[in-house]
Amino acid sequence: MVQRSQPVDLLTVPPSISPLVEHGIFTRVVDNIKIHAITCGWIKYRNAHIHSVLGPYLVLLDPTWSDWVPIFSWVIEHPEGTIVVDTGETSRASRPEALKGGGMNGWLNKHLARINIDKSNDLSAQLRLLGIHPDNVRWVVLTHLHLDHAGGLEYFPKSEIIVSHQEYVRPYAFVEGVYPAWFNPKLIGHYDDIGGEFEQGHVLTRAGDVVIVPTPGHTLSHQSVMFKTSGPTFFFAGDACFSSAHLQSGFVPGINVDRAMARKTLDRIREFARNNDVVFLPSHDIRAMKAAFMPEPA
Ligand SMILES: [Zn+2]
Ligand SMILES: [Zn+2]
Repeated sequence: MVQRSQPVDLLTVPPSISPLVEHGIFTRVVDNIKIHAITCGWIKYRNAHIHSVLGPYLVLLDPTWSDWVPIFSWVIEHPEGTIVVDTGETSRASRPEALKGGGMNGWLNKHLARINIDKSNDLSAQLRLLGIHPDNVRWVVLTHLHLDHAGGLEYFPKSEIIVSHQEYVRPYAFVEGVYPAWFNPKLIGHYDDIGGEFEQGHVLTRAGDVVIVPTPGHTLSHQSVMFKTSGPTFFFAGDACFSSAHLQSGFVPGINVDRAMARKTLDRIREFARNNDVVFLPSHDIRAMKAAFMPEPA
């Protein structure tokens, strides 16, 4: 029996802010478009993964664990179709022995992190609370193919799923069996010239306001999603880093396929944030989410 465990500061959010806050769903409306931060359960890591630059086998020697941190999925109710960025995992991942896949990657996944998700807070259940049926999601964009980002794919057989071509061909720490049988994603690799700090990107919407940009390092072809509004640009950063504090400091802890590349990616995002009004949202940073979705009253 898995104990449900949540960070205390999330539980103390007054429920009056939104009826769905108590379910870990946070909503912001910009340009009449709803943007949701959805908590799809929780993950914790060995501390060395968050605080050191040790490789995976040394990280495994650390017997201490971090606090639980959320696994966020992001939803944009865009006029051209609903967009989901990352799918979280499903409740099966709460039992490490039930994680799909064997081999070295499967073994590492079982020992590097713990996941706590019950059926009431996986992405499919959370979307239903918002009145969104997964079949009505037009695009699912995956930042990368780690389990806590791609494990919920099975809910989206009708959506166009967008994955970096290189990530698909050369995934890092891929666990075989994570893909549903019907999985046939749209692979992107030839990016458009978008100028600015990222130079290249995949423009998803006709309006040109949702753009996928390469942010490699955590995995070889990790990507992030930008949503440009008349106000800030929302930057859904996946695991480009753990927190906005790491973005500021440029510290790249944990397990990365290429740490120098990850550092370069953070330099680029920092430069972009210097030149633009950016809401930076890594997938596991509760403070960044709260600052963006629950600003303190002035
Ligand atoms: Zn990852
Ligand atoms: Zn992650």
